[in-house]
Amino acid sequence: MISPKIQDALNAQINAEFWSAYLYLAMGMHFENEGRSGIANWFKIQFKEEQAHAEIFMNYLNSRGGRVELKAIDEVPTTWESPLAAFEATLAHEEKVTALINNIYALAEAEHDYATRGKLDWFVAEQVEEEETAKELIDRLRLIGDNGLALYMLDQELAARTYTVPAPLASKA
Ligand code: MG
Repeated sequence: MISPKIQDALNAQINAEFWSAYLYLAMGMHFENEGRSGIANWFKIQFKEEQAHAEIFMNYLNSRGGRVELKAIDEVPTTWESPLAAFEATLAHEEKVTALINNIYALAEAEHDYATRGKLDWFVAEQVEEEETAKELIDRLRLIGDNGLALYMLDQELAARTYTVPAPLASKA
């Protein structure tokens, strides 16, 4: 059995992952509307990844005899001034998610819930990657500035991104 405190924290995290999914889906729809189909593709894959994160937590909570409680998902923004603004918002959001994961990690240690702590290790590493990727795209978009051809080339590059099932889910299949 899982402690009520950890169960609540994991349910809050499931909601945060779905909110992230919703945010990136909104970004995907926005850039599709703007004719930036590669950037849209990047965000739509991000949307799938966030759903997978929620699924990993839901599977885990169930495996520990906990109860998954799906709460309402708050509204997300619907427009961004530029691709740079969207990736800056992505980085700011992922930094918040990192803090949430770290808080659950600390709670798991305080509660001597080492199974939950262990489960979070994958997410700790994943957050490093999420922040690094967003930072890299921000740097590139700053270099691109208002160079339309360079932005077109980045859009083409991001069109090639494909979805890979995250390891904790892939190993369940
Ligand atoms: Mg996530």
